[in-house]
Amino acid sequence: MSLTISFAARTDMGHMRKSNQDSGYAGSHLLVLADGMGGPAGGDIASSIAVAHLAVLDADTQKPEDLLHLLRSHIADAHAELIERSGQDAELHGLGTTCIAILRSGNKLAMTHIGDSRAYLLRGGELNQVTTDHSFVQYLVESGQITPEQAENHPQRSVLLRVLGDSSSEIVLDESLREAIVGDRWMLCSDGLSGVVSAQTIAEVLLNEPDPGAACDQLVDLALKAGGPDNVTVVIGDIVETNDASGEISDVPQIVGAAATDRLAKTRDAASSAGRANQLTAAPPPLPYNEDARPHRSRRTLGIFLGILAFLVGGGFLGWTWTQSQFYVSTHNGKVAIYQGIPQKIGGFSLSHLKETTNLQVSDLEPVARRRLQTPVTRSSLSEARQVVRNFEREHRDGELQKSQNTGKSTSPSNGSAPGSSAPTKQGD
Ligand code: CA
Repeated sequence: MSLTISFAARTDMGHMRKSNQDSGYAGSHLLVLADGMGGPAGGDIASSIAVAHLAVLDADTQKPEDLLHLLRSHIADAHAELIERSGQDAELHGLGTTCIAILRSGNKLAMTHIGDSRAYLLRGGELNQVTTDHSFVQYLVESGQITPEQAENHPQRSVLLRVLGDSSSEIVLDESLREAIVGDRWMLCSDGLSGVVSAQTIAEVLLNEPDPGAACDQLVDLALKAGGPDNVTVVIGDIVETNDASGEISDVPQIVGAAATDRLAKTRDAASSAGRANQLTAAPPPLPYNEDARPHRSRRTLGIFLGILAFLVGGGFLGWTWTQSQFYVSTHNGKVAIYQGIPQKIGGFSLSHLKETTNLQVSDLEPVARRRLQTPVTRSSLSEARQVVRNFEREHRDGELQKSQNTGKSTSPSNGSAPGSSAPTKQGD
């Protein structure tokens, strides 16, 4: 018997934001959560780059004693790339991202953390927050200037003291090495969940729903029902036993949010280093990592290019098989539709095709739902994609019902502003 991680990752843009700047990654050796910031141009790039640099570590070749060093050096590379990108493009000035990564080798786990995304551990029926927020309000709490209760509604609760990204100051990560214990459930989330759903409610879901995917879905739903003011992303990893000596399980890694979409390709030069990094996140689990052969930064760009080339030529079949196990919900001829594959292109070659259309007209949907569909909603099975469609249908029916109930009543005055126009913004967001 050996250990592995049974995992799931889910995200939703939320009701107030115009794009999803969170990225999540879940695999049998690696869990990552990154919450990007820096406006519409920068936030999704920042979190995508963090995930892209870390995704290559999801392999069973790492030695336990190397785990922390690997995380540290790959995060340093992501940080350097963010600074480089920001220096090249004034629009990206101020971009940054939080980042939590858990990397496993056998029964050892290494964790690094920076920012205000959170890691929780459910063990023996008890949920504990493992990370400390690197936020201004956390500093005020720790220095006794405000209470934790006051922190919850503090006007500056989104101000972060430490992030990866556009800052010349040295990055300071919280680091830890831990045992992977069978039965442990790890949950990483962006503040889109922890900011609106109580730890007690989170604990109830994690205790009562054994399936990681279903638990992620429930948590995302709770954040949406609480108003969904921010992008919400949840990554769950359960430590389980497996008969497979390699510690692999059959599930393919799940990549969600900005890292899983091609928004980057639409908005900037797809040949840029960030574009390639973003595209690489859609590639299958990468080649085993070899520290000695690790390219220097100047050579890494070439390495990323070669990675794309390998994907197209040598690794094409494996890559194609992986992409075709994925699904997403988007639009087709004005209707909600399900696509098989991933919403990305490599070298102009689409990695998805239309799987099925629905009768749900996009124009009939509520504005909030229409905005959510601007970013493809990615899922790792057809049934999960159909569930997304059913959720849209249910919301549409509920909206119609509400309208019919309101018919005849005097309508409240409207200032015509778009819902969410007064959404709270993270500093630099
Ligand atoms: Ca956030």
